[in-house]
Amino acid sequence: MYYSNEIIDEVRSANDIVDVVSSYVKIQKKGANYMGLCPFHAEKSPSFSVSPGKQLFHCFGCGVGGDVIAFIRQYENYSFTEALTLLAKRANIELPQVSDNDRAKNDEKNIILEINKTAAKYFYENLLSKDGEIGLKYFKDRGLESRHITHFGLGFAKKTSNDLYQYLKGMGYSDDILKKSGLINIDEKGARDRFWNRVMFPIIDVNSRVIGFGGRVLGDGLPKYVNSPETLAFDKSRNLYGLNFAKRTRRDFFLVCEGYMDVIALHNAGFENAVASLGTALTPLHVKLISRYTKKVILTYDSDGAGVNAAKRAIPLLKEENLNVKVLSMAPYKDPDEFIKNLGSEEFQKRIDSADNAFLWEVEILKKDYNLNEPDERTNFYREVARMLSGFHEKLERENYTHAVAKRLMIEYNALFDMVNSFGNTAVSEKKNTSKENKKIDDGYTKAQGLLLTWMVEEVSLFNKISEYVSPENFSEGFYRDVAVKIFEKLRFGDLRFSNICDDYADDMEKQRLLSKILNTTLGTNLSDDEKKKAVTESILKIRQASLDEKSKNAKGIEEFQKIIEEQAILRKLHVDLG
Ligand SMILES: [Zn+2]
Repeated sequence: MYYSNEIIDEVRSANDIVDVVSSYVKIQKKGANYMGLCPFHAEKSPSFSVSPGKQLFHCFGCGVGGDVIAFIRQYENYSFTEALTLLAKRANIELPQVSDNDRAKNDEKNIILEINKTAAKYFYENLLSKDGEIGLKYFKDRGLESRHITHFGLGFAKKTSNDLYQYLKGMGYSDDILKKSGLINIDEKGARDRFWNRVMFPIIDVNSRVIGFGGRVLGDGLPKYVNSPETLAFDKSRNLYGLNFAKRTRRDFFLVCEGYMDVIALHNAGFENAVASLGTALTPLHVKLISRYTKKVILTYDSDGAGVNAAKRAIPLLKEENLNVKVLSMAPYKDPDEFIKNLGSEEFQKRIDSADNAFLWEVEILKKDYNLNEPDERTNFYREVARMLSGFHEKLERENYTHAVAKRLMIEYNALFDMVNSFGNTAVSEKKNTSKENKKIDDGYTKAQGLLLTWMVEEVSLFNKISEYVSPENFSEGFYRDVAVKIFEKLRFGDLRFSNICDDYADDMEKQRLLSKILNTTLGTNLSDDEKKKAVTESILKIRQASLDEKSKNAKGIEEFQKIIEEQAILRKLHVDLG
């Protein structure tokens, strides 16, 4: 790290966590904290909390947490320096100048981004050179013009298997960082380019940085597509191809498709709102990302079996995030590229206008599995549809969909509705099960330590009372004790700003996550004063006992044991009086 704790703390203090978070996430005041839907996992009831007093955020659902810098790092997928720079700018604080050299030395992610940019330029120039003729022909055959190629920065990786390696080596990059960039494989056999004899698609994030590449083989070789591996700069579960353009779309929906060429074909046909996940199925993080820009999605996956399955998997994820989902039929063509080549963009627009609502689409897909001329199969099909309908937990929604399906299948509404009700409401019962599983069992000592620290921080007046019975040495060795020492010290000296507890962990997201988890330990809301007192007393005794047990485990010699036995006797008689 090359910024001092002072400057980090200045930036942190100047950016109130509630202000910053609420510019990204809708949060509402609930007691001492603010609550909202977590931006880092899909959920329907809020478990994401932001504490103005502690200047920490914490999600009770997925466990993320930390200070305002950690929030920006995770939300924007930024490095520490990038997050600090954003927050400094927001608060009009000038960060001390760091020379490019120092910066590069310290921030491997930045060097990787720089290597990516260099490589992208190199691939682009290759494509326009003699060596790249074969690649250029591929793109031209697919109907791309020069301006499209420039727009997407397309390129070509030459046939020599270490061509890029030689080029980047010549620019002074070390083997170590080239390996980390994911562009070069280095092992006992030497250095080889990850991409060779492929047309190249640079992957550009919303901040216009080249974060990785996709490469398509020329000819029939396998694998057809190769992508960059995960690197410090590239996390494929939270980036989408084409998002850098789609985020500026004037349309109120996104087209989500399968591959690079689909996105490019759609853009060229005027649908600059097309995005694709990068060689993986759509993830909850992708959906979160999409929901920042639009509330409507039209799936334009391939019309083959794999595409249908991908759509089936994507629909529940998108719905979980309350996005309106439709599915576009490409039939009789395989993918958007083929469709547009044959029928043009006007026809494609018509398909968009008539795209099926995702639920009705799922019913249509299901229908194909049954022979509706057979009475038994027909009944089984209706039963399955009724079961799907019973999954809507809002009554009105359930009724509306039952109406729509009855009309589509030309069956009587009442008959279908009775069948739906016979299933009860599966959505509600399924939900209950998962929330039970999510609750982790915490052992008593850990919980007691968390409770005491949380309460001391939240109700400073408790500190004097608690500190009569407990000292930092009673906390378990390692992180808990570390945190306890800091909090005791702060409270003793009346320094009530807790945000800088994070100072020593400014750059360590895992520790920050743990810290905000500890300081958000709760027995649930709405405890009466008596219940709280009882819990504090129990926690004090539990901590004392556990730390004594720990001591006796490590004790050597008679004298030490003697002392422990005495302490044991004192503890048995200890009466905690919290006033
Ligand atoms: Zn969460």
